Amino acid sequence: MVEYYLGADAGGTGLKYALTDSDGSLLHHGEVITDPTSSKKTIARLAIEVAEKMAPTVQVGKGPFANLQAVGLACAGIVNPNSGNLGRSPNLLGWEGNNLKRILANEFSDKPTVVTNDVNGALYGEYRLGAGRDCENLVMIALGTGVGGGILLNGELLTGAHHGAAEIGHMVLDPSGPTCTCGGVGCLEAWAGSVAILKQARLLARVENQDTALALLVAEKGDSLSPHHLSQLAEDGDAASRALFTEVGHRLGCAIGNLVNLLDPEKIIIGGGVAQAGDLILDSCRGIVPQLVLAEEARHVPIVQAELGPLSAARGAASLARESVIGG
Ligand SMILES: [Zn+2]
Repeated sequence: MVEYYLGADAGGTGLKYALTDSDGSLLHHGEVITDPTSSKKTIARLAIEVAEKMAPTVQVGKGPFANLQAVGLACAGIVNPNSGNLGRSPNLLGWEGNNLKRILANEFSDKPTVVTNDVNGALYGEYRLGAGRDCENLVMIALGTGVGGGILLNGELLTGAHHGAAEIGHMVLDPSGPTCTCGGVGCLEAWAGSVAILKQARLLARVENQDTALALLVAEKGDSLSPHHLSQLAEDGDAASRALFTEVGHRLGCAIGNLVNLLDPEKIIIGGGVAQAGDLILDSCRGIVPQLVLAEEARHVPIVQAELGPLSAARGAASLARESVIGG
């Protein structure tokens, strides 16, 4: 009999899932549409799809989840892994205050459940299966629309006294810096999230000569402009867009310098869509970190890209679910 473990990652528009076996190997994966007004409806959709995937292995007369051992859900926002309660969650406003563990148990025949924050899920996936294998002390920074963070200390995710730890995106780097989406000022996210990068690109395009490559790109793409478009332009040698990514890397490096002085991790993992700009960001980031770190042995901490891609949080949630029932 195949023993299945389910991991899922609820985003604002889609919920990705991964079904693994007891070794963590990926058996099936997919995505259902998120209903941002209802966690219950979204998780019910997930249950229907997962039951279909497992159906060929279920013995006649057994329930649809007979082979499912445990379920893990990663979710953006402040997640209480003990109670299962979701606190503030900017992308899933209609889910705030919901008890996700209870809803999962209702939809999946009372199987054991775990819930975690999405970046913690991604970090755990990288720790078990990706860029952080064989390390017990890791920091992950996810450069997406916003900037998320996760910290693993001695093989355990750091969640803090109120489940609000590792909000690295809101580390203040300059109290007189740009305004952040959180309402604060000078947070890392105000430079390194895609919202901030696009805002800066549009600003540069306005103040520069209108015939520059950057101004032409901004005009051509309009609302569809993405960090990927900008990184392509930078790869082609455009100085203005290269400088924009250099600045992102510099700010990211300042945050990492602080984190290394605080935590002395074995590795820093950079994930999220913006991280695909790769060395455009990481060169300047790696350049400044050694200047900021006190302990000589820690100055050249590896700063690497995540390996698992868009399924990282779902696979991490499946790993957490598996370990909750069979140990690490
Ligand atoms: Zn902020």
